[in-house]
Amino acid sequence: MTEINFDPIKLTQSLVQCASVTPKDDGALQIVTKHLNEMGFNCYPLKFSGSNSYDVNNVFATIGNEGKHFAYAGHTDVVPVGNEDSWKFPPFSGTIDGDKLYGRGSEDMKSSVACFISATKRFVEKYKKIPGKLSFIITGDEERDSVNGTPKILEWASKKNYKFDHCLVGEPTSNKEVGDKIKIGRRGAISFYIQVKGIQGHTANAHLAENASHHLIKLLNNILDNPLDNGNENFLASSVQIATFDIGNPVPNIIPELAKATVNIRFNDMHSSDSLINWMEEKINNIFNNVKNASCQFTYDSTAESFLNQPGYMCDLIAKSVSDVTGKNSKPEHATDGGTSDARYIKNYCEVVELGIRNQSLHKVDEFVYTKDVIELEKIYFQILENYFHNR
Ligand SMILES: [Zn+2]
Repeated sequence: MTEINFDPIKLTQSLVQCASVTPKDDGALQIVTKHLNEMGFNCYPLKFSGSNSYDVNNVFATIGNEGKHFAYAGHTDVVPVGNEDSWKFPPFSGTIDGDKLYGRGSEDMKSSVACFISATKRFVEKYKKIPGKLSFIITGDEERDSVNGTPKILEWASKKNYKFDHCLVGEPTSNKEVGDKIKIGRRGAISFYIQVKGIQGHTANAHLAENASHHLIKLLNNILDNPLDNGNENFLASSVQIATFDIGNPVPNIIPELAKATVNIRFNDMHSSDSLINWMEEKINNIFNNVKNASCQFTYDSTAESFLNQPGYMCDLIAKSVSDVTGKNSKPEHATDGGTSDARYIKNYCEVVELGIRNQSLHKVDEFVYTKDVIELEKIYFQILENYFHNR
């Protein structure tokens, strides 16, 4: 049984001690629920299944009545630890060593979940009542399929008539100091699986064969030689990466019949999955239209579309709250870099911005957070609640 303890560092530790590698929960959501229940939240455990994915446990929790509705969104699942022997401390021990708290999920993003719970506790204690509505959208699957998680919680909430005005996602966004960088959008992601088929033959009889790899190399060179774009005001240039190249030919005297490659693209708001599928078709047609004895096919896996929330109310609220806490006037950087996040689903429901702890060790061996950063983040989250419900 986990004890109730609202200290953000203790709470981060308890959450890290749950080995919640997606889709396993190992008690993490129960800790969240227990603490929210204690403050008077109505908690709804939501288990979703189907849609060609595994079962996932989630929690939606809400408190308050009439007025504007603020939501905090986060996840309690973590990525696998990799080689456990490479870790300085057992990855689910939550060991504090000097000024650091170690463990898988400490940065991504259990410290944020802990901080928002702690901040809410202080807020509820100070003001007794919330002049509006505050909800927690917590999923057990952000890191893998992300199918039976946030998108289904949002659908469920919408059916129950919950309408969010603003949402903060607690992914680790900060850079050199907590609060110096927020995310206002994200790049999209798509993978292309390309296969070229030629004619197998003896390398000494090249005229009787058609080397599949030569054509694939030509295609890939063409793709790499022509960048998709140079980026824009809000986004970095789209990135095209050849993730695999595979001929699988074990001997030097065979001309390979098949050649395969995976191309992974992280794209900005100048593209969409559809436009990139057309772009790939065109590239392939250009190379293969006049080729007699080789053909090229592809499949794709579109994981996310890019999106951008025009800087508005949430960005101002966060900038003010950060400067209230740090005493500094510099505005947080507005960024759209990094991988995908569940903000891509939330943006269809309300204004959403991401702010969390410093991004430095997530998904790595010896993932850690500085304990002083955890304390700072909790203060900023508290200030956001105070400015949102009382000062604006
Ligand atoms: Zn995360």
